[in-house]
Amino acid sequence: MSYKNFTVDTDADGIALVTWDMPDRSMNVFTEEVMDEFETIIERVAADAGIKGAVFTSGKETFSGGADLGMLQKMLGVFHAEKAKDPEKATKLLFDGAGRMGWLWRKLETSGKPWVSAINGTCMGGAFELSLACHGRVAADGDKVRMALPEVKVGIFPGAGGSQRVPRLTDQQQALQMLTSGQTLTPQKAKAMGLIHEIAPADRLVETAKAMIRNGLKPVAPWDDKGFKLPGGPIYSAVGANLWPPAIAILRRETYGNYPAAAAILKCVYEGLLVPFDTALRIEQRYFTEILQSKEAAAMIRSLFVSLQELNKGARRPADIPETRLTKIGVIGAGFMGAGIAYVTAKAGIPVVLIDRDMAAAEKGKAHSDGLISDAVKKGRAKPEEKEKLLSLITPSADYADLEGADLVIEAVFEDSEVKKATTEKAEAVLKSGAIFASNTSTIPITALAKNSVRPKDFVGIHFFSPVDRMMLVEIILGKKTEKKALAVAIDYARAIKKTPVVVNDTRGFYVNRCVLRYMSEAYKMLIEGVPAPMIENAARAAGMPVGPLALADEIAVDLAQKIMKQTIRDLGEKAVDPEQVKLIDTLVDKHDRRGRKNGKGFYDYPAKPAKKKLWPGLKDLYPQKRAEDVDYEELKRRFLVTIALEAARVMEEGIVTDPREADVGSILAFGFAPFTGGALSYIDGIGAKDFVAVAKALQKKYGAEFKPPKLLIDMAAKGETFYQRFDPYAKNGERKAA
Ligand code: NAD
Repeated sequence: MSYKNFTVDTDADGIALVTWDMPDRSMNVFTEEVMDEFETIIERVAADAGIKGAVFTSGKETFSGGADLGMLQKMLGVFHAEKAKDPEKATKLLFDGAGRMGWLWRKLETSGKPWVSAINGTCMGGAFELSLACHGRVAADGDKVRMALPEVKVGIFPGAGGSQRVPRLTDQQQALQMLTSGQTLTPQKAKAMGLIHEIAPADRLVETAKAMIRNGLKPVAPWDDKGFKLPGGPIYSAVGANLWPPAIAILRRETYGNYPAAAAILKCVYEGLLVPFDTALRIEQRYFTEILQSKEAAAMIRSLFVSLQELNKGARRPADIPETRLTKIGVIGAGFMGAGIAYVTAKAGIPVVLIDRDMAAAEKGKAHSDGLISDAVKKGRAKPEEKEKLLSLITPSADYADLEGADLVIEAVFEDSEVKKATTEKAEAVLKSGAIFASNTSTIPITALAKNSVRPKDFVGIHFFSPVDRMMLVEIILGKKTEKKALAVAIDYARAIKKTPVVVNDTRGFYVNRCVLRYMSEAYKMLIEGVPAPMIENAARAAGMPVGPLALADEIAVDLAQKIMKQTIRDLGEKAVDPEQVKLIDTLVDKHDRRGRKNGKGFYDYPAKPAKKKLWPGLKDLYPQKRAEDVDYEELKRRFLVTIALEAARVMEEGIVTDPREADVGSILAFGFAPFTGGALSYIDGIGAKDFVAVAKALQKKYGAEFKPPKLLIDMAAKGETFYQRFDPYAKNGERKAA
């Protein structure tokens, strides 16, 4: 019998090698079709007396990415369509669908024949859950072999037995840590935790797996054996009593109750470990069905998986421009940002010329890369030869002539129009025709900068975020005259350095900084109202933001906030900035020299390590303080999310961002907009435009014009539209409708 996605070869010892290699995908994923075929294989192995056992492996470089989340989205689509007609039937259908994979793995586990998973590469989610159901597990030794159950990162949890097998193989504390964080494991770590049995050299992987069967591997999971004991002891034990109360508190501290999937993991593990295995699987299936229906799961799967992947694959790239193979990049300005840009470029294997005003400055920029990669080597995250290669790709220089032959030049010189003008002219004098020139400016419009260029069609903005090596987003800014070749090259570059690009039309502050400014401005307003600073920071984090607005202001630098305010007043007039906020920032910078983390004092004090930063007590003396009990904490949380979401809606209204996927993904990657909402626009969609407008109007009455909902939202509210309906990202090419 032949299969589309698998080959099955049985050797002379009667061991079947089941190799998974989907012909139409670069990575194996579980689809309906794959599961149907695999079920037939499990049955065949069980029924064939000539087959002693089976080894499961992948024919691709990676093992598998797990379940096709598109399949889950489809299942949810059917559920929602059916729910209106017959809610009971709809829930039953979803319950069965949610349990399909888990019960299939259980079928394999209890089939009476031994199965060994031979993990040859990245093994994620459902694929690792399948491996855990196999009676033996061997992983190849190597940097590319990683295992994880990362479901929680997209709002769901391991619902195919993972929440039950992991805590039966390792102690509960490690299990909870792994499941609630989505932690990635090396083969060594997985073995130390008891999740795999052996590690083998890559070329001996299948052989080692087969040997396990030849040596009499029992086709019975430990939990199906009489007398099975949990590795770390039962729930009702001294260990359990020490673990569970703090585990619940830690979950609360980490998630503020915003992530139902993380809470479901705790419930599944706790309840599941008290009962026999099949009952435990049923408990898991029930919670999984419930979590699948959550708003958070739908929003996170869409933004953090589907949209993210689409943007990373170049969804916004003009399709008719051939891909540019980047062979040389120029970076001008080897300062804070330029040095980081050179690093990520060289890390992607692309030669880069790093120019500054003199050789010493250029060398200093290169030294930044040396520092980062040396640190990675020290921590075992990179090999010495990788360091050597990376550093050999960066050529520091003070001579613009060295830019000759570059496909793309990115300038990151001082934020000064005159300096940028001179830089553009000098670079263009040596650039080949068709080379793209990009600016990393954070505030100057690209259209204005492009006036310095003799070929504005090849001029584009590529806006990085600091620290460049860690921030995953870049904004690509189109000037009025930027043509699609420049956009295509910018996206090719973003993809090469493994960053997610969002395409933005030219405006003051582009997209991200407009939203970030609103976030910080709301915090300044709260301070001025007399809200105690710790409440402000805590409310923001409880709302789902990873960093409080005052901490963020310190990171960005308080004097930079001051400069931006002054510049805004110069450009747009006095009314553009709230004078009370200007006074607050002036007081911090001019009176108290509190410029942020960089000078060790801002909204926070930064004592020498290992002491932690603390909010500056002097903040209390700046304004008469409200009593905590007089502050509406829930309203503080709402104000933060609503003010950012309103700005994102304005950006859509103005046509600055045109695709809701970019607004959502951008808001999460750039400033961590409450990821459980799916991003700034999904937050509005999740509430519904009508209710959101009502919330915004109520806030407007109390706190002012910043909360005025734009016309776009009022119109959407009247029509009952969502952003993904109104700006359907799939409508243009007719590919598919948004989920
Ligand atoms: P920086 O002061 O650290 O670095 C600027 C570098 O440019 C310096 O090394 C300087 O010697 C060099 N330089 C100045 N004139 C030059 C010239 N004519 N030729 C070659 N080199 C020259 O500044 P930065 O923070 O890296 O910012 C650089 C750019 O990036 C600015 O446009 C800024 O707005 C933008 N940006 C900064 C951030 C941030 O967080 N700092 C974030 C995004 C974008």
